[in-house]
Amino acid sequence: MAKITLSNLAHSYFPNPSGDEDYALKELNHDWVDGEAYALLGASGCGKSTLLNIISGLLVPSRGRILFDDKDVTEAPTAERNIAQVFQFPVVYDTMTVRDNLAFPLRNRGADATYVQQRVQEIARMIGMEEQLNRKARGLTADAKQKISLGRGMVREDVNALLFDEPLTVIDPHMKWELRTQLKALHHEFGHTMIYVTHDQTEALTFADKVVVMYDGRVVQMGTPQELFEQPEHTFVGYFIGSPGMNVLDASVDGTTAIVAGRNVPLGKPYAALTGKVELGVRPEFVQLTSDEGGIPAKIRRVEDVGRHKIVRLDISGQSVDAIIAEADPVPSGSTFVSFDQAGINIYAEDWRVDPIRESAA
Ligand code: ADP
Ligand code: MG
Repeated sequence: MAKITLSNLAHSYFPNPSGDEDYALKELNHDWVDGEAYALLGASGCGKSTLLNIISGLLVPSRGRILFDDKDVTEAPTAERNIAQVFQFPVVYDTMTVRDNLAFPLRNRGADATYVQQRVQEIARMIGMEEQLNRKARGLTADAKQKISLGRGMVREDVNALLFDEPLTVIDPHMKWELRTQLKALHHEFGHTMIYVTHDQTEALTFADKVVVMYDGRVVQMGTPQELFEQPEHTFVGYFIGSPGMNVLDASVDGTTAIVAGRNVPLGKPYAALTGKVELGVRPEFVQLTSDEGGIPAKIRRVEDVGRHKIVRLDISGQSVDAIIAEADPVPSGSTFVSFDQAGINIYAEDWRVDPIRESAA
């Protein structure tokens, strides 16, 4: 196992990149702590696979370096990096049995036959394929083949890191949950450094201790699920994570007050003067409906009953706002006012979160 360091890393698929927009991966500095389980989360096309392939050595970055435990591996081929990678679609040897497919990485490294036998059995149990060990892979469903790919990725105990690139895409929903649980168990047992790529926030938040969120070729935040919920560092993190995502409203800020739709919103904390695009972010969980005319006037567009609570879709001078309210709470029809929990408010300038001014110790 290893710590993985990315130092001034950037990648462009163009031979002569000019501006930032030519880079699939903008400059990146990041440490993956030895033994942690990470999810790499972001929308399709944001650079997740590019980053993973650079770590595994399938791709040489245009700029910067990759270190495994301080050893420079930037130019080292995949085989030398001692990494297991599982891709979105199955990669199996059709003419081999399930058993031989699973055993392949071990035999390839000259592992002892008794150990291979025992380890393959263990892995077959984890992926639920003990009954099919002696079958040829040919003719198995895509689902089963992907389980073999996963199993082959997990079979070696001595890898530097395990990389998964949206590995559950072709797996049926019930088995997804099962396999994710197995991966977590594997992490607890062996403590491998794991990076699990997904565009699905639920997968990311349930799999990982730390979630790395990417947006447009950049890592915009790394944090625990709670940190991503409470303090999204970038507006993208706010609305990508959460269901529904964070509300982002045009605002101006004057000291301890924000002005939204012409109304004052007390912030409880002072902010320095902000220029350019200023926005107030507040999650639907922290939006209340009120009859108090001191709130912000809003129109109710729709109410969705989602079981445990209700989602109220509102309109505040042409901007949509969502509120989550308790199942039992009444919803007025037509017009209402909304207010925000101070503790749930974050302020953004040009999409990045701004810290309030530290009040001097008085
Ligand atoms: P993700 O895995 O997050 O969906 P990718 O890393 O595959 O994103 O892609 C990032 C960007 O790089 C996208 O704009 C994609 O079109 C581009 N890209 C990916 N692979 C190649 C390639 N082999 N050649 C040129 N452009 C590529
Ligand atoms: Mg991808």
